[in-house]
Parts: sequence; C-alpha cells; structure tokens
Amino acid sequence: MPHALLLAGPEFCGKYDFARALAKSLLCEKRDVNTQAACNDCKSCSLFEADSHPDFSAVQLAEKKSQIVVDQIRKLNEFVYLSRSYEGSRVVIIAPVERLNINAANSLLKTLEEPPEKTVLILVSSNPSQLIPTIRSRCQVLHLPQPTLQQATEWLSTQTIENSPDELLAAAGGKPMLAKQLDEGERLATRKELATDILKLLRGNHSLTNVAKKWEKTPKADLLDWQLQWVQAMIKSQYQSDDAPRDTISPHLHRLMKHSISSLWELHDGLVELKSHVHTSLSPLLFTENMLILWNNQSRSH
Ligand SMILES: [Zn+2]
Repeated sequence: MPHALLLAGPEFCGKYDFARALAKSLLCEKRDVNTQAACNDCKSCSLFEADSHPDFSAVQLAEKKSQIVVDQIRKLNEFVYLSRSYEGSRVVIIAPVERLNINAANSLLKTLEEPPEKTVLILVSSNPSQLIPTIRSRCQVLHLPQPTLQQATEWLSTQTIENSPDELLAAAGGKPMLAKQLDEGERLATRKELATDILKLLRGNHSLTNVAKKWEKTPKADLLDWQLQWVQAMIKSQYQSDDAPRDTISPHLHRLMKHSISSLWELHDGLVELKSHVHTSLSPLLFTENMLILWNNQSRSH
C-alpha cells in the first residue's frame, strides 16, 4: 500500500464510497485475507460506521464552500502527527482534492512527502489535471473508470428507488450515483421540465427572458450537467455509438438543432465554458440567459 493514493475517475461513479471502503478495510482488525474487505464486525469497523474512529479523518468541502481551506489542512496535519489510538493504520481521505486552495495545497505537501509511519492518505478527484503537479507527483494514481451500463443497472437494482433503473441511468448518462441522486425528490421531473422549456424556446414558443427567469434559482451545476448530458448524447448519436444508454430527451432536442456536428460541439464547449462560472459571483439571471443564448445560437430556426 502506497502512503498516498490518488483515486481518479469520472464524477458520480462511486469514488468516494470506494475510498471509504478502502479506509475501513485498512483500519479493520480482521479483514478478509482474500478479498481484503472489512469484516464489519470488529471494534474498528463499528467505530468507523459510527463516524467516530479515532484514527480516521475525512476532509471535504464545508457546506456552501467551493474550496478546501488551509485551516482544514492544518487540522489534518495535527491529526496525522498525533500518536495512534490502535495498532493499525491511520487513514485520511481528502475529497475533492482539486478544490484545495493554493495555501491548503502547500500545507498538504509536506505531509504528503513524508507522512508518519503507517499513515495512508487517500485523495479523491474527478479532475486530476487541475491538481498542482507537486501533489500529483507525490501520489500513486489509481484510475477508477465509469462502470459498464450492465454493472450500473445491476447495482441500481439493489437500491431502494422509485423510478426504473433504465430511465434513471439514461438520464444520468450511465453514472450510477447520479442516477440514484436523480431518483431523490423531484430531480428527474425538474430535469424533464428544463428539457421541455428548452424545446419550447427552440420552437419559438417561449421567450428567452421568461425561461431564464424561471430557472435562475435552480443550482447552476445541475442545469449545466443535465444540458451537457443531452448534448453529449446528441454528439454520441452522430458517431453511432451503441453502448451509450438511450436518453429519451436528446433526440427531441436534436431535431430542432442545426445539422452540423460542429454546431453541437460549439454548444458543448459553450456549456463547458459556463461551468467555470458555477462558483463565481456571476448573477444567476445573467447565467441562465447566457446558457439559453447558447441553445438559441445553434437552433435550426435561428
Ligand atoms: Zn473489521
């Protein structure tokens, strides 16, 4: 086991759950010799499940914050250099590690370079390219790919969900954790409603200002993620990719768009560009207006 591990892979595919399972296993007193899975039975496992294991710590974004700050890492450094409570390892998870601000990243470097004995740092990232190279180079990288559609369907079928696994996975671009999240509350319905409004906008039945006003209170990241899923599905369909889950919304949108693939890419890149404004102070209305203009520009009737 390396002392610093970077789990890299797409969002909503269970990286964090994997990191927790790994941490639990490293701390377990009687882990399975073959599978390395935690026993779920020993004192360490019960403490871990109760979120009170003294040799485990997780650093995440504080509520409504977009960055992990240096105070969080200082606390972590103190924790790492305390003497251990049990015989086993000390384990730390930092997620999402690309959100460390520069001071926090610098404060982590020394610990990453020379962690105390039996200490394992598990870093989790969907965007490892955004990490400063000095952090990346101190970790062993483990790539966690998106599960196949079949694996995702099998897993989702074991969960308590309201909607059908197929519909959820299609809406979630095949990403299992996102599919589960879409099942909660009104998210799937909200997503459909956004598609309906964009369709009406493209047909000229809704004014851009009204649609922009209607959606300004919805979280920006959700809006962009849903739209990017539709645009990516449209692009994939042009390349005749078969393994993509069938999304029921994107074909309707596609019919109202300009035919060329470059037009789809333009919309795609525009939405990705807007993603960089998700955590900035750009006014919500200006944000939704800019977002809808991207669609209007590529509409067939434009
Ligand atoms: Zn155990």
